[in-house]
Order: sequence, then structure tokens, then C-alpha cells
Amino acid sequence: MLISEWRKKVEDEGAKNAVAEVLDKIKQSRLNAFITINEKCIEDARRFDKGELKGRLAGVPVAVKDCITTEGILTTCGSKILHDYIPPFDAHVVERLKAEGAIIVGKTNMDEFAMGTTTETSYYGVVRNPYDLDRVAGGSSGGSGACVAADESVLSLGTDTGGSIRCPASFCGVVGLKPTYGLVSRYGLIPYANSLEQIGPFASNVDDLGLLLEVIAGPDARDSTNAGKEFRYEPKEREGLRIGVIKEMGGNDNVMNSFDQAVELIKAKHKVAEVSMPSFKYALAAYYIIAMSEASSNLARYDGVRYGLSAEKLSSWNEFFSKVRADGFGDEVKRRIMLGSYALSAGYYGKYYLKALKVRTLVIRDFKKALNDFDLLIAPTMPALPFKIGELADPLTMYKADVNTVPINLAGVPSLSLPIFAKKGLPVGMQIIGNYFEENSILSFARWLEREIAEVS
Ligand code: GLN
Repeated sequence: MLISEWRKKVEDEGAKNAVAEVLDKIKQSRLNAFITINEKCIEDARRFDKGELKGRLAGVPVAVKDCITTEGILTTCGSKILHDYIPPFDAHVVERLKAEGAIIVGKTNMDEFAMGTTTETSYYGVVRNPYDLDRVAGGSSGGSGACVAADESVLSLGTDTGGSIRCPASFCGVVGLKPTYGLVSRYGLIPYANSLEQIGPFASNVDDLGLLLEVIAGPDARDSTNAGKEFRYEPKEREGLRIGVIKEMGGNDNVMNSFDQAVELIKAKHKVAEVSMPSFKYALAAYYIIAMSEASSNLARYDGVRYGLSAEKLSSWNEFFSKVRADGFGDEVKRRIMLGSYALSAGYYGKYYLKALKVRTLVIRDFKKALNDFDLLIAPTMPALPFKIGELADPLTMYKADVNTVPINLAGVPSLSLPIFAKKGLPVGMQIIGNYFEENSILSFARWLEREIAEVS
């Protein structure tokens, strides 16, 4: 649902009734998009009806991924180890949402610690795709993508470490953006891989997404990687842009068919050419080494003392620590802690981690060069249509599904996933990638393409 449609509904029936309807819808839903419903948000809706809630998102439902802290609201990160963690503080983005009057309807389901591409690693069960309940909604922000597609919220926030906003946006047929690294504060984001991840918006169209980005982006001294910039959504549509199609990012026949159809539309108004990014053939391997290395160090904090799950007092510290972690983490998280610790170990650091960092530099160089020659780059978001639940049981097969999304995080550039032409009744997404902090160029182009696609669909 668009913000404008929501506002109309609120005018007709009042925010309290409209929000109560959304909460009922979530409760009856088979999607499993939410881990926690924020019943208290009805109070905020009442305040809106009384004219007490003001701001750019006043009275608009927003769902927040469950790895983003919310004061007084359960925040599990999709893990058993945080099954009872109630944060005493709000993340920067949540503070900003509240300051603009947004109604936080609940916390969305996700892969455990955001490690996954399908939301099947969540301790709280898989999220189903609104277009086909036997398929996944994508991951790791599966709940945030599905809830917007199914009108279980108007807007949502996700996080993207290697594709976790763009993948569910693509699989659920909504718009999702991974902002430039540093544009949105990570304060209050429970970390998976700090150097790669950003919080970002989901919405039903580009204009709504632009507004949500405007609200969440901004300076924050509590995040040392924050760029200290505000963002204003100012779409300026232009013709004759130089658009590069990334040769190394492809997809299966369904995906390429949809992508080629969209490229034909683009060619009518812009200059389209192919661009090659030679380093990308190593990007997936480098991403997983870096992400797992950072994860292995980040997840050391779950020791059964400071947060969440604990254990009976046992004879030794090592025994206690091991028991808590054996019980609290799922298989995928354990796999990554082990692989990450291995890659960082004295004997293998140079062979794996250092090599991965070198590849990262090459990926950055390829982007810089390409974004010098082109205004924007495009590629399919995901190489396939939404997977059947259980289809990616083998971890390596799952990692490979991220081939088109991870290079963006290695470089830190922004990338938006826009729904293009559905195939076999399932959504397909196109990535639109721009230079650092050029979100407005991406959004302006996406807004134009969104309209062109709507006209021919
Ligand atoms: N699928 C990727 C991974 O598991 C990306 C996840 C994410 O962006 N959080 O690392």
C-alpha cells in the first residue's frame, strides 16, 4: 500500500481503526513475517487521531527488522540466543522514525543474525512468499519484504550485508534500497559484518522509499562509520543517461527475459552499453570470507552472561560458554563462526582473509572505473525466481544465489532493487547501482522506469 492510499484510509476510518486492522491482518497471516507485534502502537494511532502525533511519517505503519534495537520491545535477531532480549535503547533509525510520528507495528522475521538468503535460518520459522506460499520471501530481511508486499505494514526497514534488502525486495515485488555505506547510522543495529552492512528502506514505490530514506539517514556521532550527511529526496528525471549493463551479473532464462524487456524500455530514452567488471569472479568468495570473519568476532559477545540465553551454573567457564552457544545458535551461525575463526587464525590469515581484502580493493576499483564511464549500472537483482522452501538446503548453493548482490557491499556503493516484469506469476527485480552518496540519481531513474513499466504492464 502506498503512503497516499494509507492516508486516505486513515481519513475515512481514523488511524486507530486502520492500525487495528493491520495488527489483525498480521495475526491472521500465514506469511510469518513478524516475530513480535507491537500492540502498544494502537496508543500512537490514538494520539494521531487526537492530533498529537506530528511529522513526515505521522500515523504511517513501519515494520522494523528484528536485528534493529527497539526500546522495550523484544529484539531477537531471529535467534534463540536472544529469545528474551528486550533492549533498553532505540537504534538511531528508530529514534528518527519516532521523531517523525511513524507507528512501529512490529519486528520482522529474519535469518538468524541476518545470515541467509531465504529467511529459512530463522529460529522463528520461515517467511512465506506472498505470491506463492510454498516459496521463500528471500532473505535475510524476508519479513520486511513480505509485510510491505502483503499490506501488513506500509513501510519497513531491513539490513543489507550482502543483499538482504535487495533479495527480499526482488522476491516480494517491492522496492528496496541498500544505501551508501555510512549514510544511515548503524547505532543499534546488532552487528553481523560491520564493514559491509547498512540499514535501509522498503516501500511499495520509489517516492515512498525516498521519503523513508530521508527520515532514517542522517548524522550520528555514536556510529564512527557514519558519514555525517543528511539526505533530501529530490528526484530530477533526466534523459540520455549512460547506463552500464554489468556483464558478470546474469540470471536464468526467466530473469533475463524480464531484465531484457526492461532494458528495451531504457534504450528508448538512454544510452545503454555493456560493462565488464573482471574482479567480480572472485567477489562471492571474498565476501563470504570477510563476512564470516567479522561475524566470528562479533558473535563472541553471546556468552550467556551479558545477553539472552543463559545456562545452569556449570563447573567451568568454558563448559558454560560452550553450552550456551551450542543451545542458542543454529547450524548456519555455528558454521560461519567456525569458518570465520579459521580464516582469521594465525596460520591462514594471509591465505584467506588478506587475499579477500585484496579482492575487495579490486572490486572497489572496478566500480570506480565503471561509474566514471557510466552514470548508473544495472543488473538483475537475483539470478533466479523466488526459490521453493527447502530448495537451497545446501549452504554453498545458497551462498551462490548472492552472486549479483555481494559486490555492491564490498564496495559500499548504493543499490536499489526495482520490481520489473513478473514471470510465471512471480516478481523479478532489477538492481540500479550508483556512485557513493548518489542515491538521488538512482531514485530519479528508478522513478522514471517504474512509471514506464507500469504503462506497458
Ligand atoms: N545472504 C548473505 C549472507 O548470508 C547476505 C545476508 C545479508 O545481507 N544480511 O551473508
